[in-house]
Amino acid sequence: MTTVFQRPLHKRLRFESKLLERCELTPTVSQFSFFVPENFVFTAGQYVTISFSAAGKVQARSYSICSSPSQKSRISCCIKKVEAGMVTPALFNFPLGMSFRIVGPMGFFVLPKQMAEHNLVFIATGTGISPIKSQIETLLLKDFKNKLTLLTGARYIREILYKERFLALSEARQAAKKPPFVYESIVSRPENPEYSGEQGRVLRLLEKHYSSNEKSLFFICGLKAMVDDIRNLLRKLGTAEQNIFFEKYDA
Ligand SMILES: Cc1cc2nc3c(=O)[nH]c(=O)nc-3n(C[C@H](O)[C@H](O)[C@H](O)COP(=O)(O)OP(=O)(O)OC[C@H]3O[C@@H](n4cnc5c(N)ncnc54)[C@H](O)[C@@H]3O)c2cc1C
Repeated sequence: MTTVFQRPLHKRLRFESKLLERCELTPTVSQFSFFVPENFVFTAGQYVTISFSAAGKVQARSYSICSSPSQKSRISCCIKKVEAGMVTPALFNFPLGMSFRIVGPMGFFVLPKQMAEHNLVFIATGTGISPIKSQIETLLLKDFKNKLTLLTGARYIREILYKERFLALSEARQAAKKPPFVYESIVSRPENPEYSGEQGRVLRLLEKHYSSNEKSLFFICGLKAMVDDIRNLLRKLGTAEQNIFFEKYDA
């Protein structure tokens, strides 16, 4: 077997950071902002590794950057509190100003050069929205010329992340008469009898929006089980392997 080593996209830095801000998005997900030095450069879709002192030892965890590369001096990460997790329950109690060791940027879940000739479809569940938010904001900032579609899934209505932000971006693009940015979310347990949106898994949304006429590129991010299910569905629908890009949060 041959192992292919890819060159890092940017110089990888190792630095002392501080927690600057924490913004609660849902009862179990917050957006954390960390200081980064001026020479920290990343491409939308990349992640950093943060070292924490938790449970009596230093533990490192990876987090995708959800903010745009155009923002300087800070990055934001959208992080889920995993109740039985080793690190995240402690992270949610850390005070502002707390110091962390950060290494990054890392990763290759980035928009490829050939995107200019394609429509792009993004699929995320939970905090898998993080690198995709950064990518979509970057594309919209650069006035991307083709159609964009974002399909997100969550268990409960209250767990849909950045819904207002994406709806606003979609409406702004429509108002400016640009190619559409289609945004739709689906929940598996709405719990509200008045909910009139889509119900089920994100696979269902993909089947609804998939068009075999368009040569789209697909970007998937979330936990392994969902990423594998979406990849299998795309293969069944006839998408070529080289048009599927993904990031998994667990092995
Ligand atoms: C490249 C990469 C990028 C990542 N980016 C993010 C991110 O932007 N936001 C984020 O919240 N996590 C992200 N993760 C996951 C993160 O690194 C940790 O695994 C997560 O925070 C759990 O850490 P913990 O110590 O609390 O749990 P652990 O004690 O390590 O337990 C891990 C368990 O938590 C589950 N888990 C891991 N991540 C999640 C999640 N996001 N939602 C629900 N369950 C989860 C796993 O399936 C596993 O069962 C990323 C992982 C990788 C490899």
